[in-house]
Amino acid sequence: LLEVAGVSKAFGGNQVLSSVSFNVVKGEILGLLGPNGSGKSTLLNTISGFTRPDGGSITFNGRPIARMASHRIIQTGIARTFQLPVMPEKMSVMEVVMAAGTRQHGLINGLLGLASGRKAEQEDKARASELLDTLLLTKVKDLPAAALSGGQKKLLGIACALMGNPALLMLDEPMAGVHPQLRQELVETLVRLSQQGISLLVIEHDMHFINTLCQRCIVLDRGQIVASCRPDELAENQQVLDAYLGRSTAT
Ligand code: ATP
Ligand code: MG
Repeated sequence: LLEVAGVSKAFGGNQVLSSVSFNVVKGEILGLLGPNGSGKSTLLNTISGFTRPDGGSITFNGRPIARMASHRIIQTGIARTFQLPVMPEKMSVMEVVMAAGTRQHGLINGLLGLASGRKAEQEDKARASELLDTLLLTKVKDLPAAALSGGQKKLLGIACALMGNPALLMLDEPMAGVHPQLRQELVETLVRLSQQGISLLVIEHDMHFINTLCQRCIVLDRGQIVASCRPDELAENQQVLDAYLGRSTAT
């Protein structure tokens, strides 16, 4: 589904990604681990078009996307969430989710004319309500999005990402800041999504969630992929474990 080949990115003299290659298979949940500053979020930013890679190629469904703008990439079926979501000041939770839907459908509504545009809006509303319900945000749907707590903003980010029915959903530390009870529900929601055929790329520090959620994981250490294995194999490989813990001495 997604193929990343030889992707590199430097900020000034800081080489953040060094020839990163991996792929995501349809329907799988792939974990992305690594120490703070190893380049995980930057990798998500390059795939979603927020950062342009210096070199390498990224293909999604056979289509090259490395040089596409982020709003076009969304429309190819890749959605993402942010590690620290920032929400608009003057929009309610419901309005934010609806706006995400419009953005992801692009110009289609406008081109199809008013009547079908209205139908699309009704369908969007139904879908938005359903997602807010799944992510336990129905109670706060009329509050300003900016007023939500950190954990609620994370959940709202997931609702927004799902509005366009993406084929690939990339989550940047979805569990961080989310209440333990809700985390379990979030895990179940994510597993259900993958059963529906959605592929997931999940950045996560918590090994427990990597273990319960992912079939496979890749480990980034200083911008290089140092392992691609099943989560249970991580603990067996000292070198990989050291890399995961940021203790590796390899250059
Ligand atoms: P964490 O687990 O803490 O979220 P991470 O693996 O997601 O870490 P990144 O956010 O990808 O790490 O950052 C990797 C490195 O790239 C850091 O040293 C960071 O300072 C640098 N970096 C990221 N984005 C930029 C930018 N826009 N400009 C300059 N440097 C950047
Ligand atoms: Mg990060």
